[in-house]
Amino acid sequence: MHQPQPAPFTIAGQSVAPGTAENVSIPITTMVTGYNSHLAVRVFHGSKPGPIVFVSGAIHGDEIIGTAIVQRLIQELDPQSLSGTVMLIPVSNIFGFISHSRYLPDRRDLNRSFPGFANGSLAGQLAHVFFSEIVSRASLGIDIHSAAVHRYNLPQIRIDAGSERLTELAMVFGAPVVIESPVREGSLRALAKAEGVEMLLLEAGEALRFDDFSMETGTSGVLRVLGHLGMIDAVENTAPKGSPARSKKTQWVRSARGGVVHNSKTSGDPVQEGDLLATVVGLFGEEPEGIYAPIDGIVIGHATLPVVHQGDALFHIASVANPERVGARIEGMNEAILSSDPEGFAETLLDEDEVI
Ligand SMILES: [Zn+2]
Repeated sequence: MHQPQPAPFTIAGQSVAPGTAENVSIPITTMVTGYNSHLAVRVFHGSKPGPIVFVSGAIHGDEIIGTAIVQRLIQELDPQSLSGTVMLIPVSNIFGFISHSRYLPDRRDLNRSFPGFANGSLAGQLAHVFFSEIVSRASLGIDIHSAAVHRYNLPQIRIDAGSERLTELAMVFGAPVVIESPVREGSLRALAKAEGVEMLLLEAGEALRFDDFSMETGTSGVLRVLGHLGMIDAVENTAPKGSPARSKKTQWVRSARGGVVHNSKTSGDPVQEGDLLATVVGLFGEEPEGIYAPIDGIVIGHATLPVVHQGDALFHIASVANPERVGARIEGMNEAILSSDPEGFAETLLDEDEVI
């Protein structure tokens, strides 16, 4: 049957014709310098009707893994064969991105500032623009974060607890672990929930860093979800067989003393209660103190900086059924990605320590 061609997609006064992709620049506010600031969005408007989805990176300005994932998605998507519309936002918090900071220059956290206010603070204005131009048009959002500076997160999807639909989409995404957790007030997830917009949050990798496992898991996950929604052709699932692990309970493990850390476990490793995670020693290597797993589970995050104060969080562990099976699947995913051809992409990636 012949399908009607959709109407042009209008955003921020700009019209995107069906079957085309455009860069759209949405005005945010005037900076201290007097220059105007803009939110950059790549809009893929399909030649056939379908859902409207957004994918956003760097809501926390130093969590740049989403920027890399969006750049890969731009290479993968074709508006001619797309059903529906995809809005890609490589950098949501442009102000923090410039200064390599999680926050905005007004010291606020964008992800605690939703829904925002047109006459509000800088964060409030940006949140308002993001909400009114992006979130309010979409039926599904995928928001991409990383761990903080000097921390690494195993790629994991976080969703609101108790939603069958979100669980279905999260399982399709195919990250190693799916964690159900309550939404935080002022966050994008809280706003989306209030507005009836489905929302997946991907946590992956380390702040100010790119890593292949996070980029590949994020890119293929978004494409699998778009395929599941019928927006693109189904994507071949090259991940090892088996479903993502599910967890409703996670626990942080802190250092019992200040000193220098020698890790025995890392993100993706299965652990049993009582397993040695790390040893923390003094400056001369003296008085080693073992740090042990408090529960059975899988390590979903760890500190990458081996210099710690007493009380610093060293590991994040998710309680899962069959940690050994989950660990083996993650190892398989990692190997599949490391053995695949990086397509020359790695050469163009930013590594902060190499940039003067
Ligand atoms: Zn974040």
